[in-house]
Amino acid sequence: MSTHGLPPFPVPTSTPTGGRAGRPVCALICAVAVGTATACAPSEGAVTPSPAATALFPAAAPASHGSSGTMGAPGIGDPDFPTDGNGGYDVQHYDLRLSYDPSSRKLAGSTTIRAKATHDLTSFNLDLHGLTVSRVTVDGTTASFSRGGDELVIEPARRISEGDAFAVTVDYSGVPEPMHDPVNLGKYGFISTPDGAFVTCEPNGAKTWFPSNDHPSDKATYDFHITVPAGLTAIANGEMVGTPRTNAGKTTFVWREKHPMASYLATMTTGKFQVRTGRSDKGLPIYVAVADSFRGSLDSLLTQTGKITDYWSTVFGPYPFSSTGGVIDDYAAGYALENQTKPIYGGFSPEPSIIAHELAHQWFGDSLSIGRWRDLWLNEGFATYAEWLWAEHNGQSTADSTFRRYYANASDPMWAYPPGTARADDLFSAAVYIRGAMTLHALRREIGDQKFFPLIRAWTDAHRYGNVTTQEFIALARRVSGKDLTGLFDAWLFQPKRPAPIS
Ligand SMILES: [Zn+2]
Repeated sequence: MSTHGLPPFPVPTSTPTGGRAGRPVCALICAVAVGTATACAPSEGAVTPSPAATALFPAAAPASHGSSGTMGAPGIGDPDFPTDGNGGYDVQHYDLRLSYDPSSRKLAGSTTIRAKATHDLTSFNLDLHGLTVSRVTVDGTTASFSRGGDELVIEPARRISEGDAFAVTVDYSGVPEPMHDPVNLGKYGFISTPDGAFVTCEPNGAKTWFPSNDHPSDKATYDFHITVPAGLTAIANGEMVGTPRTNAGKTTFVWREKHPMASYLATMTTGKFQVRTGRSDKGLPIYVAVADSFRGSLDSLLTQTGKITDYWSTVFGPYPFSSTGGVIDDYAAGYALENQTKPIYGGFSPEPSIIAHELAHQWFGDSLSIGRWRDLWLNEGFATYAEWLWAEHNGQSTADSTFRRYYANASDPMWAYPPGTARADDLFSAAVYIRGAMTLHALRREIGDQKFFPLIRAWTDAHRYGNVTTQEFIALARRVSGKDLTGLFDAWLFQPKRPAPIS
């Protein structure tokens, strides 16, 4: 994710790449939160220095599909987001049948989830924010259900045994309400617009439009059937299946994401769009869509998206998905999000550096997804470093000079925020982005380009479509480089102070 047009975060006066003069650097960063750009200093007592031995292995284990007894847990086990996701099952596939009418703002949905029980279940939870549930079935039999907060608790007529596959269908409707989180992204999730909806869900806004296991540690494939008034376009992830069908003044779009996807990367962005399709030089299908007011950016978005996706495939390894793309909506979110296969830009025409950031996320965040939010630097540090690599590739400025400009500012608040433990109350801190990127540069300097770039490709290859942890990256870096990097990672990721200069 990246932001656009926000108050400037304290950064060096010179911008890291050409063509950005006069624009706040946080405008170039994906997911630095609206209104929190200056809130990156740690709150009192929130950050405690820890010895290297434990700092590299923070106390909480990676999120697991935990639960107790035969009741599914109301959270998946993320220590910082305890009620996000759920335990007791593993989702394989979502089939979303959705109808949205912008004039009434009413969404009607029927979601079928195919899942596998990870232990015996007499009840289990889904995440759902607002909306009215009319019916739930499990394997075709009516199930009872109750609501409490954003939890939908389902009791199937028959107990589900560990290891069994089951299908739960939830019928629901209502006016979706977005999430509001003043300390992070502000408004996110399903956001209605005059002509449709702008749908960006990081970190836990999928539940504003479909019942889900709303946490990136449970990835699944998706089918979307989205019906909207004729004349509008509904855009989801993956590729379109068939041609949109119009009947009685309504058009149904069918999209399929056949690769595993984290729920926060799902979208059903809807509105009046100009659409263009094509292929990159390497032959990858591209789908781009822009709101009418951005029609002047349609061609450049198509061209840049293809060019940058192809370039990243030479740096990071094969592109993980079956198409690439992008969407510019006229909703002025002020940020971009790396929705899988189709990053979305909220109310602005993105510079190439932002496109480079969002497309790098297709590897870092989308294909390789974090298992708990405190590891967010594995997404944002890598995507920010990709911006620096893009500038380097284009001869604008080297990653090394960008690093040194940031390093020179000894009073930057990011030194107090160790990016290896992103904080739930300041998840999208610039420290997670910039100091995260600096960590990668310090690593690159330490092990050299001959080891660094093969390491990155080994990383994306070993964990393609999976979940990752910081410890796994550190272990792989050690294996590939043959060096003990404990001190480097501890200083850059886990200590609340500016690390010693790199050579
Ligand atoms: Zn980002």
